[in-house]
This record gives sequence, C-alpha cells and structure tokens, in this order.
Amino acid sequence: MKNAIVAGGASGIGWASARALAADGYRVVVADLDGDAAGTRAAELGDPHLGLFVDVADEASVAALFETVGTCHAVVSCAGFSTLGPIVDLPVEQFRSVVDVCLTGAFIVAKYAGRHLVDGGSLVSISSLNARQPAVGMSAYCSAKAGLSMLTQVAALELAPRGIRVNAVAPGFVNTPLTAGAALVPGVVEEYVENTPLGRAGTPEDVAEAVVYLTKAPWLTGEVLDLNGGAHLKRYPDILGHVAKLAAP
Ligand code: NAP
Repeated sequence: MKNAIVAGGASGIGWASARALAADGYRVVVADLDGDAAGTRAAELGDPHLGLFVDVADEASVAALFETVGTCHAVVSCAGFSTLGPIVDLPVEQFRSVVDVCLTGAFIVAKYAGRHLVDGGSLVSISSLNARQPAVGMSAYCSAKAGLSMLTQVAALELAPRGIRVNAVAPGFVNTPLTAGAALVPGVVEEYVENTPLGRAGTPEDVAEAVVYLTKAPWLTGEVLDLNGGAHLKRYPDILGHVAKLAAP
C-alpha cells in the first residue's frame, strides 16, 4: 500500500487532504502539532491509517516522523498560521514564529520528503494567495509564503532527476479554524468575496481536490497553483483596517 504523510493534517485543509488521499487509496499518516487530534483523525479514517505528533519547525521531530513511516509516495506539507499587525509594531519573535513554521518548517519537511519519497513520488505544499498578493498587517505570512513558492521551484529542480514532482497549491480565503477569527470581523469575508470573480470563499475540499490532482499529475513540477475563485486577479481585503474599525470607540 502506498503511504502518504500529511503534516498539519489534523485540521482544515490538511484534514480534508488526508480524507481525500485515504479515499484515493493511500495509507495516510496524519501528523500534527496536536498529536491527540492527529490520533483522533486517524481513528476516524480507520485501519490502516495512523496519527502521529510532529512539529514541522523542529528538525528532530520531522526526522523521527519520516523514520517511523519509512518509504512514502506522497507528502503534503500543510502546517501554517499567521499573525496580524503592522510592521512597525510587530514583535520580531512573532515574525520569526510564522517564518519558522510556514517557510523553515516547509523546508524541513521538503528535506525529509526528498530523502524518503520513492522515485516518482510527489510533494505538495500548501502556499497561499498571499504568496503573490500583499496583505496589510500580514508581513510575516506573506513573506513566508512567497519564500515557499521559490522553495517549491528549487526543490522541483533538485528532485526532478528522481522523477519526484514538487508543487504547491496557493488557496485564497478558505473557511477553516485558521480563518474563523478573521471571518468574525465584519467586512472581511464580504470584501474578500467582492474581490473574487467566482463570488465565494473556498472550502477545504476545494483545496484537497487540487492536492490529489497534484499527487497524480505526471508531467507537472515546480508549479504554484492559484486556487482562489479568481481572487488573484483583483486585490486582497484590508483585514487590519476592518479590525481597526471594530476596535474603534
Ligand atoms: P488549520 O485548520 O489551523 O490547520 C493547520 C494545522 O497545522 C493545525 O492542525 C495546526 O495544529 C497544525 N500546525 C500548526 N503549526 C504546526 C507545526 N509547527 N507542526 C505541525 N503542525 C502544525 O489551518 P488551515 O486553514 O487548514 O491551513 C492549512 C494551510 O493552508 C496553512 O499552511 C495555511 O497557511 C494555508 N492556507 C490557508 C488558507 C485559509 O484561508 N484557510 C488560505 C491559504 C493558505 P494546531 O491547531 O495544534 O496549531
């Protein structure tokens, strides 16, 4: 049976990807910072799926995960989060913590995926619309995801001799626990949808479908696939501006 690892797989887009890969015939290893949630998710998928702890920002933790799984055929690198705050006020530690997970973590996962994937295997990372579209107050996240686009291309070049394909999906606004707070701020989702030609936010399943496609696509590598209802053609909402309005007396 083919093994797939989904890092950051216990929630949102990762969890939808884990379900989709299980339905596609993989034995899925749901790996997450929340090891208990990973175990619960794997139990929901049933036998032979597995839930394990991983902190993608910690090389020893990622190495142990891949060592436990052994050979794998697909890896989805999904862990990520954002902070919100203008550059002039943002504590450096907050900037670093986002880069540590969204970019350095993606590098560490790519490093061990490159070692453990079979020839012809596939690495898919979850990037973001913010890799190409700047958002006020999201310097760390935008910078990290833009870096992830280039990391994807470099890894695609380095792993191509073994037939390993390296791609990313760059979703727009998707309803998940990550965006639940922003979605509660009046105006955020409305402005996003106004700037989305297809007129809606995404679902985790929209992204999972693209992830499964990228694991299969035999002649596609180094691609960052914009998946956002056309939002990349317009502009990103001013989330910080909406938060400021909410906080105003
Ligand atoms: P989510 O529901 O919060 O899921 C992210 C998962 O990653 C959580 O289970 C989280 O665990 C885990 N995680 C966080 N830090 C980790 C670490 N250091 N090591 C291992 N796992 C870690 O968020 P999501 O919306 O599905 O986001 C998934 C990916 O899609 C992220 O890379 C995000 O940047 C990207 N993305 C999301 C959207 C969107 O609109 N939702 C749009 C574009 C891109 P804990 O909950 O325990 O922290």
